[in-house]
Amino acid sequence: MTETSLLQQLIEALKCLPGVGEKTAQRMTYHLLERDRQGAARLAERLLEAVEKIGHCKQCRTLTERDVCGICANPRRNQEQLCVVENPADVAAIEHSTDYSGLYFVLLGRLSPLDGIGPEELGLDQLESRLDAQPVKELILATNATVEGEVTAHVLGEIAHKRNIKTTRIAQGMPVGGVLEYADGSTVAHAFMDRREY
Ligand code: ZN
Repeated sequence: MTETSLLQQLIEALKCLPGVGEKTAQRMTYHLLERDRQGAARLAERLLEAVEKIGHCKQCRTLTERDVCGICANPRRNQEQLCVVENPADVAAIEHSTDYSGLYFVLLGRLSPLDGIGPEELGLDQLESRLDAQPVKELILATNATVEGEVTAHVLGEIAHKRNIKTTRIAQGMPVGGVLEYADGSTVAHAFMDRREY
């Protein structure tokens, strides 16, 4: 294998990052190789370790290196509130911006029949068993303000209503089409505080 092709392969590999095209991937590659080989080695090591060791929490499906994540394992969290989000990044956004102290359930996506994402992929069975087994009094629907997020919230609402569980939806202080993980902290905090019955 020639030097050039290793270089090219690295550029190609970096393009898997969101928002990184050919130009940026090239810049990153030259930066790492010319200015920060130590940083590059550390990055490679951390990436490999993360990919090998980080999985999903058995209870809430967020990212964790343990069987059960720190939030689910914390007995001081309010067991009566369950907040449903699309992605692990949404958990982080809510944790950083609000004083929410309940638990989470992470769908790892949103209903999108055209992409083959249905109730099974989102773990809705698991969510339903959890609602049957645990004393949840409020289900907070924090799916995104996109069409698919709204459809998902609607289905979640039905699951809760069947069990007479109070359901709230985060306020749409979020811009329409807004995605939680990219919103600034005060927007997330505001949307979360202003949630209403759904
Ligand atoms: Zn968890």
